[in-house]
Amino acid sequence: MKGWMGAGLAAAVMATSAPALAQGNNWNTPTEPFHVIDNVWYVGTEGLSAFLFVTPEGHILLDGATPQGAPMIEANIAKLGFKLSDVKVLLNSHAHFDHSGGLAQLKKDTGAPLYAMEGDVSALEGGFYLGSESVHAMDAPPVKVDRKLKNGDTVKLGGFTLTAHLTPGHSRGCTSWGTTLHDGGKAYEALVFCSATVAANRITAPEQYEGIVGDYRATFAKTKTMKVDIPLAPHPEFFGLLEKNAKAKADPKAVNPFIEPAAFGALIAKLETAFETTLKERSAKGQ
Ligand SMILES: [Zn+2]
Repeated sequence: MKGWMGAGLAAAVMATSAPALAQGNNWNTPTEPFHVIDNVWYVGTEGLSAFLFVTPEGHILLDGATPQGAPMIEANIAKLGFKLSDVKVLLNSHAHFDHSGGLAQLKKDTGAPLYAMEGDVSALEGGFYLGSESVHAMDAPPVKVDRKLKNGDTVKLGGFTLTAHLTPGHSRGCTSWGTTLHDGGKAYEALVFCSATVAANRITAPEQYEGIVGDYRATFAKTKTMKVDIPLAPHPEFFGLLEKNAKAKADPKAVNPFIEPAAFGALIAKLETAFETTLKERSAKGQ
């Protein structure tokens, strides 16, 4: 269990209707950057992912962790020998302070434009948690969105393509980023899955945002049809990314451990059960 349900996710899954702050104690702990697979590098902190997609024409950086995490991401990019000024596009999984909090700093320091799903634009630009605008502990430094994305839009750079899959609920514009990656002469479908935990969201009236329950259910239905060979996520413990890195280091000749086709469906099933259970409990309590 520990592999998929680390402290951050456990707290998030079990959060009650109060705007719980499932603050992970390792969110702002630096960790060594590492190669994931193909052109993908992990440049996040110990508890919050950030991914660098390297192309011949510059790089795409997905997620910014917290404001305190941004300099750690920058240091990790430099440590790998890449230049901050070669980051040409900034992306976000979702507009929550633990993944968007560092974007303003990263935008300033890279000069790269930020592309984001339209449902999350107001929260990114306003620097708030949508539906909890008065809970300032969940604020993030406001950051301007330069290109508004819709479901299915693609981001292309240097012959590399990422597809934006809208998987709403956890946030209104929650975006899972898909691409095809290669390893050992084979092609694999990779997805950086946004999230579908209930976390701090109110899923009974007054809803966090209008239509949130239908959004979660649409996301579960959609993700069940997706084939994912390489599951990645903004919280590394969703798919045990740091453990997989340790495994890859210990046995570099083995099959890349980040290829794990059964993991995505298993996580979605657990998240759906957790969501429906929480909804039932809160509805019964009139919360
Ligand atoms: Zn979140």
